[in-house]
Amino acid sequence: MNVLDLARPEVRALTPYSSARMEAQGAAIMLNANESPWPPVGDDGQGLNRYPDPQPAALRERMAAVYGVRPEQMLIGRGSDEAIDLLVRAFCRPGVDAIAVSPPTFGMYAVCAGVQGAAVETLPLDADFGLDVDAVLAGLSPAVKLLFVCSPNNPTGGLVPQADIARLASALDGRALVIVDEAYIEFAEAESAATLLGQHANLGVLRTLSKAWALAGARIGALLADADVIALLRRIMPPYPLPTPCVQAALAALDETAQRQTGERVATIVAERERLAAILPTVPGVRAVYPSRANFLTVSLDDAPGVYRALLAQGIVVRDVGRYPGLAGCLRFSIGTPEENARLLDVLHRCAEAA
Ligand SMILES: *Cc1c(COP(=O)(O)O)cnc(C)c1O
Repeated sequence: MNVLDLARPEVRALTPYSSARMEAQGAAIMLNANESPWPPVGDDGQGLNRYPDPQPAALRERMAAVYGVRPEQMLIGRGSDEAIDLLVRAFCRPGVDAIAVSPPTFGMYAVCAGVQGAAVETLPLDADFGLDVDAVLAGLSPAVKLLFVCSPNNPTGGLVPQADIARLASALDGRALVIVDEAYIEFAEAESAATLLGQHANLGVLRTLSKAWALAGARIGALLADADVIALLRRIMPPYPLPTPCVQAALAALDETAQRQTGERVATIVAERERLAAILPTVPGVRAVYPSRANFLTVSLDDAPGVYRALLAQGIVVRDVGRYPGLAGCLRFSIGTPEENARLLDVLHRCAEAA
């Protein structure tokens, strides 16, 4: 069976919009897209009067090289959030199909499913926030078309072993796609599940430039998957998803020198994470620090609301993750600069003294 047999029939049958830029580009005189013939007033040479290439070749090549895939195995979108939305739209029929998630986890999967009218099946992580593959496989209903696996998981930080992902993809072959969200994989110093793409047509991997690459404001992410899946999603994607200034910012962030500097920064974040993970358990009021392979630490506290307020009063905002199942009384601390982290520890110590 072809993985596209899992997609919504109406999406497979759709005649996609054919944009002017897809049909022709690069001529000396461009009179096919009703653009302005002049750059905008105050233009800085970016050529913003022209619609952008839907999937700019230079960025595709650079991102594909960084992610270790062929360009046709990759869709670049407005953050990985857009890829999540496109996957749900393409594979889940409203009122019929479902996605599956393992809480506590990232909220966007369920939100996109809700918008699409797809059900959300929950197969919770185990007591140590690990993914129990046997329980997941036993618990999935036949309605599930997409299984989202977040690794490292937000907000608990755990990494799902590569062998478990391969086992899920094999078991669900012909039934569902396994989508591994690797928004934080750069901080895990682990191999990407993209290395498994050749063996599993029903596997997808989400990557983003928003975290390690410091480009949250540019909104650039990617889905790595079977070339047929990528081609299907392109049919339902808006015609010009990637703004020219964002593409320029991504290209700059991915040049050789920038890549090296980003690698150094990631190493600093990882070192800071390990330093904080060692110190935090010694701070009175801290009950547990969950082991994290990402750029954050989730911490269980005696008085999470009190600590949240005290930090805020000192100008430090953290994430209250207490509403997630299994995380009552927990806060999530993103790893900042060494100076910011020192401030965080300082305020936490003062909270403990005051308590
Ligand atoms: C931050 C995050 C993303 C990234 O979303 P973008 O749209 O690429 O900015 C995706 N998944 C998870 C789990 C995240 O925490």
